[in-house]
Amino acid sequence: SSDSTTDKHVAVFPFPFGTHVVPILNLVLRLSQATPNCSFSFIATHKCNALHFAKPHNPSNIKPYSITDGIPYEGHPLANHPIEKVNFFLSTGPDNLRKGIQMAEEDTNKKVTCIIADAFVPSSLVVAQSLNVPWIAFWPPMSCTLSLYFYIDLIRQKFANCDEDARFDISPGLPKMCVQDIPQDLLFTGEKETVFSRTLVSLGKVLPQAKAVVMNFFEELDPPLFVKDVRSKLQSMLYVVPVRFPVLLSGADPSGCLSWLDSNRSMSVIYVSFGTVVSPPPHEIVAVAEALEESGFPFVWSLKENMMGVLPDGFVKRTLMRGKVVPWVPQTQLLGHDSVGVFVTHCGSNSVTESISSGVPMICRPFYGDQMVGARVIEDVWKIGVTIEGRVFTKNGFIRSLNLILVQEDGKKIRDNVLKMKKTVEDASRPEGLSSASNFKTLVELISSS
Ligand code: UDP
Repeated sequence: SSDSTTDKHVAVFPFPFGTHVVPILNLVLRLSQATPNCSFSFIATHKCNALHFAKPHNPSNIKPYSITDGIPYEGHPLANHPIEKVNFFLSTGPDNLRKGIQMAEEDTNKKVTCIIADAFVPSSLVVAQSLNVPWIAFWPPMSCTLSLYFYIDLIRQKFANCDEDARFDISPGLPKMCVQDIPQDLLFTGEKETVFSRTLVSLGKVLPQAKAVVMNFFEELDPPLFVKDVRSKLQSMLYVVPVRFPVLLSGADPSGCLSWLDSNRSMSVIYVSFGTVVSPPPHEIVAVAEALEESGFPFVWSLKENMMGVLPDGFVKRTLMRGKVVPWVPQTQLLGHDSVGVFVTHCGSNSVTESISSGVPMICRPFYGDQMVGARVIEDVWKIGVTIEGRVFTKNGFIRSLNLILVQEDGKKIRDNVLKMKKTVEDASRPEGLSSASNFKTLVELISSS
């Protein structure tokens, strides 16, 4: 009953970078509705909170608290690399997280009774242990990359001095992988180590200490052997379907992409986006543009403003009648539009989930982290897309992939496969849906009884 959670207080620690924040906030929004009397304290950097709590849309039982990002002083020079900020934040360790808890406890007048944290903030486990409260970890990357963290020794041994193309079995249920598939941080040793790489390498030992690991995906879609293997290593592994709250959707469509799509044939339009972090090198941007121009297909390209200057001279003008290059699109709605026939993606976990949920096949150009394993699984296990030849855009290689998916008979199988997955997602997302609904209940019970 609602009364039983009145004295409950969940501290939430997102990994306050990139799109890790959106899925954990969606989960917390859902939990806060299920337990309206429980307090949720969202403890993150000021920048992260300012971004995600800008609009006054949150239920009254979720409140943000800001802790330091670890950057030594304002205006401190940062190398042009996103990982540097991550290293600063992770270096602040458990003490910084404890300050957030202290603020939240004073403000709510309730002791923290449970911690939910992004798995990439494992110092929150130390905090949970010292408070003697359960630690629940949340896994936003591609679900199937989780097993890699249990096979680090094997990975290091196999890939220490191997050929670029040599492929090995690493973990049950996943396809054979080559050195390029592995998140490179897992291979760093000695001087190459960073706070972030050490954090990632620790996860195989840390995650089994979680009361539960919450997977942001669909159990029905992951390879059964993978699920079985990882589950055997954890206390509990709860797949909870990613639910998106409308308030967190970037619903605005300033460039009118959605209405423009209305005028196109079903499954004919190419959608290109590399997410919020990655910027492909200029020669690849040029190759993408040349292929789009030469192939003649209609397209929408979400391209960061600062990359537009790299486009070939006159490209936008010449393709104006059948193409749109815009800095931002409402991606989930766009993928859900009947005209979109293929998603050219970097394989960020959110993008992959959104593509599957809309039944759109993918052309993959993975860049780093979990994206390469994602591309492998998309191509080899799910068979719902292809990886770009040589993993680098060239004009002709890209045109071949486009023809395969949009035109050729072989592509039909790929399109059919992803439509089947879409159906599975729809079934899993129903209120009475298979495992997810009962997993969510289990999670609510965990919070309510701690
Ligand atoms: N996105 C969007 N419009 C854009 C580009 C991206 O709405 O023009 C959203 C997309 O729907 C997804 C997120 O940004 O939810 C990107 O997350 P993902 O995990 O795919 O990649 P990341 O940005 O973390 O690399």
